[in-house]
Amino acid sequence: MNSFLNSNFLLPRQGPNHPMSRTFIERKVVILGSGPAGLTAAIYASRAQLEPLVIDGPQPGGQLTITTDVENYPGFAKGIMGPELMNEFREQALRFGTEIINVWIDRVDLSERPFTLYGKESQDAEDVTTEIKADTLIISTGASAKWLGIPGEEPVPEGLGGNGVSACATCDGFFFRGKPIVVVGGGDTAMEEALFLTRFASEVTVIHRRNEFRASKIMADRVLGHEKIKVLWNTEVTAIHGSKETGVESISLFNNQTNEASDHPTQGVFIAIGHKPNTELFEGVLDMDDVGYLITEGRTMKTNVPGVYACGDAQDSYYRQAITAAGTGCMAAIDAERFLAEHEEGSDPDAVKAGA
Ligand code: NDP
Repeated sequence: MNSFLNSNFLLPRQGPNHPMSRTFIERKVVILGSGPAGLTAAIYASRAQLEPLVIDGPQPGGQLTITTDVENYPGFAKGIMGPELMNEFREQALRFGTEIINVWIDRVDLSERPFTLYGKESQDAEDVTTEIKADTLIISTGASAKWLGIPGEEPVPEGLGGNGVSACATCDGFFFRGKPIVVVGGGDTAMEEALFLTRFASEVTVIHRRNEFRASKIMADRVLGHEKIKVLWNTEVTAIHGSKETGVESISLFNNQTNEASDHPTQGVFIAIGHKPNTELFEGVLDMDDVGYLITEGRTMKTNVPGVYACGDAQDSYYRQAITAAGTGCMAAIDAERFLAEHEEGSDPDAVKAGA
């Protein structure tokens, strides 16, 4: 049996050979990311007595923590708030012995088992402060909001990001009480953001680059029928204007059917054009598609490196639902447990099944 598998505890080491305080952790199962996929993997792995370590990303709980009502998660007939749902996931994982830490993983070494993850206190920190050895790794790093890449969109101080430009209505909607705002995008996220923002804004304009929404019919119909919402079709936003003092004042528009350019006064811009998988850490090591979604084998959650699994939005470009993320998290934990059972002594191959 691999010796580190016997020592499932946190071991801080400090001394003359370690000028920086560095924490060493060794686990059979390490789960990177704490959205529905990661925490479901943690529930299953912890119930299989594998004492998983979950590493919170920059957004603990994942994308549902920045959403409002979740109406389609089975088991909640009256709906549930996203943050509340994720809190339940977390409590359930902790109840069975999951440990959750918050470090920024700067790089990984998947060239041999145990795999090594190097963590820093934050993305901007210089030094590695945590070194994690993982006999199996479950990647559930999710996806992040995409941006248009236009002038004025950059975060403050370069642009107006955080000062009138946002990708999260739930987080920032309150600041636009009584103000006119725009939402860019034509998918379910854009519909949801637009509907939510009608609670605060004086007027919501949805700007979409085509002449029909990508969103589900029920959401699109709610938007099209809302008295506070109007839609600009075939229209692209090309720049955001304003200043540090005033915030956003207007945006430049381009109609791609008439080729007309125009200015549109507004005080808030919500970008809701989809998401990008958070998989940069694994570029060149794990197989991924053109967009960066990790590729898994057949009906399993196996990546091209034995012992490494991917689940949730980091792996799924198609369904991208909380419930499907949770399902794949469960599958990844079962895959990891079976891998351990096959490769190590003393592990019960039926443990996950029995604990399910
Ligand atoms: P989608 O990929 O579904 O939609 C993205 C939208 O943004 C599309 O309309 C797309 O335009 C537009 N877009 C993309 N890039 C640009 C760009 N550079 N400039 C202008 N417009 C752009 O992403 P969503 O985040 O909306 O949804 C993702 C998944 O999550 C979907 O499966 C959705 O159903 C689900 N979801 C479900 C919710 C619910 O059920 N309550 C809520 C939110 C999301 P085009 O159409 O032309 O490609």
